[in-house]
Amino acid sequence: MIENALRFSHTLLKNTISPGDIVVDATIGNGDDTVLLAKLVGPYGKVYGFDVQEKAIQQTTEKLLYTSLLPQVELYHQGHETVGDILEANIPLAGAIFNLGYLPKSDKSIITKSHTTLKAIETLLPMLRKGALLIVVVYYGHQGGEEEKEAVLDFASHLPQKEYSVLRYGFINQQNSPPFLLAIEKR
Ligand code: SAH
Repeated sequence: MIENALRFSHTLLKNTISPGDIVVDATIGNGDDTVLLAKLVGPYGKVYGFDVQEKAIQQTTEKLLYTSLLPQVELYHQGHETVGDILEANIPLAGAIFNLGYLPKSDKSIITKSHTTLKAIETLLPMLRKGALLIVVVYYGHQGGEEEKEAVLDFASHLPQKEYSVLRYGFINQQNSPPFLLAIEKR
């Protein structure tokens, strides 16, 4: 079966991240990406995670404790737009991932927003090492989602081809605004 955007994001992470790497989970949410990233970077790597909701931090801390993955993870209860305050600008980043929208089974009014999403992406892109990916899984079926989707697409489609390759991946015949994926590769 063809992988959906979420599964494909995990395939891309598995293909590009190795033990010892430094990566960013820009939207911790339910913590599934954080756990995968922590496994991939291993005990000598580091995952920096961000979320504005305490619930996301708590749930994910528990998941990481159960799986003994907490030592290689630092979770920040703050917006991803502040990533530049936490990471050194010259860090060799092996990857970053965003899942846009709201946290499922939670407050649907707490959503990622174009201004802060773009600020975070613009901060992270120069940190990517050669061949690294910044992945955005774009959920946009919710109120406010369309505006963010357009802003992110506009930004990504104008990135200079000499520096970045940009992929858009998603089903084009599905109802109800299925998420799609953007992968920005540092060339
Ligand atoms: N829509 C996806 C999940 C997205 S979760 C799905 O259905 O699976 C998005 C997460 O981003 C939420 O946990 C939310 O709290 C978080 N978030 C919102 N604004 C943020 C910001 N500025 N920085 C970091 N995380 C943010």
